Amino acid sequence: MKRALAAGPGRASRLNPARESLASRRTRARAIARALARAYPDAWCALSYRTPWELVVATILSAQCTDAMVNQVTPALFAELPTPKALAAAPAERVETLIKRTGFFRQKTKALQATARAVVEQHGGEVPRTMEELYALPGIGRKTANVVLGTAFGEPAIFVDTHVRRLSQRLGLTKEEDPVKIERDLMKIVPREDWGRFPHLLIWHGRRVCHARNPRCEICVINDLCPSSRV
Ligand code: SF4
Repeated sequence: MKRALAAGPGRASRLNPARESLASRRTRARAIARALARAYPDAWCALSYRTPWELVVATILSAQCTDAMVNQVTPALFAELPTPKALAAAPAERVETLIKRTGFFRQKTKALQATARAVVEQHGGEVPRTMEELYALPGIGRKTANVVLGTAFGEPAIFVDTHVRRLSQRLGLTKEEDPVKIERDLMKIVPREDWGRFPHLLIWHGRRVCHARNPRCEICVINDLCPSSRV
């Protein structure tokens, strides 16, 4: 088995994030965003959704579950319980049955119904579009709030999941482990107009080229911008 790649600078690279100025890192982050956007022009959220509410539901269901499985489950769920009001009023057992294949279905049902009730009671059935209001909803953490803001509403927001964390560290864009600190580091260097798309670009690149155990540096379009490159 090949050795997992460390997050720090690679031997083959002359780039050294520890000595890099903020201005240089900004330039590099912009170049990374541009190169990945050219490589993956269709990169966007892999979860299927038509409305902000559907993205809220799909993101809650995606915890500890693949996007592909969530996308198999949500059509029937959205057909039967299309609105926050309908989901809040449904018997919990019915919701559990509909989402069972995504795993942790009892906790997820509680989170979905609590979120749905709060959206109905506090926001007239519409998903709010500020971080403060979204984060205040039960069942919605910071990552989900940022996914919804950046992806469904096009607001400047960067979400950090495991792929975004891994690639940001590998690319020397952050040294942090905590998602909130990583989010702040990325906001300092990624152009604001790219915030909503940047996490999706990293996720696409992580799934296709920069695999956790065996990154394909030789075909990577950003290997000249990556301190962990093996080429
Ligand atoms: S695949 Fe690309 S981004 Fe990932 S470690 Fe290699 S050069 Fe860096």
